[in-house]
Amino acid sequence: MVSSKTNKKKNDVIKFSKMLNDKKLSALRSGNISVRHNNGFLITPSGKKYSSLKVKDIVFVSLDGKYEKKYKPSSEWRFHQDIYIKKKDAQAIVHTHSTNATALSVHKKPIPAFHYMVALAGGNDIKCAKYATYGTRELSKNILKALNNRKACLIANHGQIVFDKNLPDAFELAQEVENLSLQYITALKLGKPKILSLKEMNKVIKKAKNYKRD
Ligand code: 13P
Ligand code: ZN
Repeated sequence: MVSSKTNKKKNDVIKFSKMLNDKKLSALRSGNISVRHNNGFLITPSGKKYSSLKVKDIVFVSLDGKYEKKYKPSSEWRFHQDIYIKKKDAQAIVHTHSTNATALSVHKKPIPAFHYMVALAGGNDIKCAKYATYGTRELSKNILKALNNRKACLIANHGQIVFDKNLPDAFELAQEVENLSLQYITALKLGKPKILSLKEMNKVIKKAKNYKRD
């Protein structure tokens, strides 16, 4: 018997998965979303178009990586698993192939502090995880390295990933990373951007803690 709390969380995952398409953060079936649940997490299935997702498609994976054989969780369940194990404050994860973050990831460069909003990811840059084949433990290791003291990173030749204290916040952070990526690409077209100092960024990191009001 599935509890109503579990069903509500599964419906939230579906709602935000469809928003990946609607808000143009990921086309068709690319990307994946999960929320922490009991001793594991609820995650989108592999290779299914978000527009056709049903509650029964959302898969529970335990923190030790087990799931019922009849299900097919996202091929990226390993990096979701490792993030929930390593980051105690992670309650939700959003991975997208958003256009501008992906374009930057192809150049394997971090996003520096060209704008103070970079601090939303937790520090003075947004790092780019080293490339590895999708769905592998190696990719997960590379992502965890880039997420050291951060809530978001780019993934080389792939896209971006964020986690946060709930699903709406994680989704919004993924939107911010995409906005920042577009702004950074635009700024680069005009020459070498001026980068904010660590001192200035530390001021923003402190101040931004109380910024959001709804
Ligand atoms: P899944 O459909 O298996 O989640 O794969 C999408 C993806 O983005 C792989 O990195
Ligand atoms: Zn992906």
